[in-house]
Amino acid sequence: MLYDAHNHLQFEELTPHLDLIATDLAAINLGGAVVNGTHPDDDWDDVVALAARFDWVIPSFGIHPWDVSARPDDWQLKFIHYLETHPRAHVGEIGLDRWILELGRDKDPMLNGAAPAPIEEQMEICAWQLRWAADHNRAATIHCVRAWGPLLDVLRSTPIPKRGFLLHAYGGSSEQVAEFVKLGAYFSYNTSLIDPRKIRQRKAFQVVPADRLLVETDAPAFPPPQPYYTLPNQKPGNWQNHPANLAMAYADLADLRGEDRSTLETAIETNFQRLFTS
Ligand SMILES: [Zn+2]
Repeated sequence: MLYDAHNHLQFEELTPHLDLIATDLAAINLGGAVVNGTHPDDDWDDVVALAARFDWVIPSFGIHPWDVSARPDDWQLKFIHYLETHPRAHVGEIGLDRWILELGRDKDPMLNGAAPAPIEEQMEICAWQLRWAADHNRAATIHCVRAWGPLLDVLRSTPIPKRGFLLHAYGGSSEQVAEFVKLGAYFSYNTSLIDPRKIRQRKAFQVVPADRLLVETDAPAFPPPQPYYTLPNQKPGNWQNHPANLAMAYADLADLRGEDRSTLETAIETNFQRLFTS
């Protein structure tokens, strides 16, 4: 079976197509997908509804780094409530992003019309969520863009879940992989890695140990260059990634590692279950 370690099935771009998506996911033999909430008032209830509708959905709740500045005052109460009511749920998407800071917009539509939170504030919110995950041994899914030093600071100064944590769409260096492995990291990749210009990411991918590797789509983000599964009524140039492109991610990643697909599938299944369902 195939496992999607990271997506956003709750995003409204996908909502009109859920029946089709579910049929296509059954056709590729999906075993599980971690669906990541990003903001308590925007999408955590949608994640809950998806988990009630599809038994392969593993819910995950977190304040995404882009949503740190627009978080509600009572976010911690909500965070604890959602995670305590859903014992199978994990923590995420949390993390750090300096790319969004570098864009430097005061009112960013991507950030609910807020300015991005300074990196120190992102670190504080990330660390609080990570500590809760550690105290309750839930997995944590981490987004990190251009903030690898600050992320290492957080990971070294905060308790880490015993079961481990996921660095989704890992974009750090190959030299740092061993350091993150020591701390308990898993690394997930989507089809964006097949772009030969992603030299640094492709180099790091090759040194990720087989027992720490996972596959993701990040759907509806990262549509593959040549869409395999596409959603109806979409205009070229405005593609959304269909979650069933997971099958394409497996095939591409097996090629890049020089492995046959069934070897990769077996390893990913074991890793996914160890981190998210054991
Ligand atoms: Zn994401």
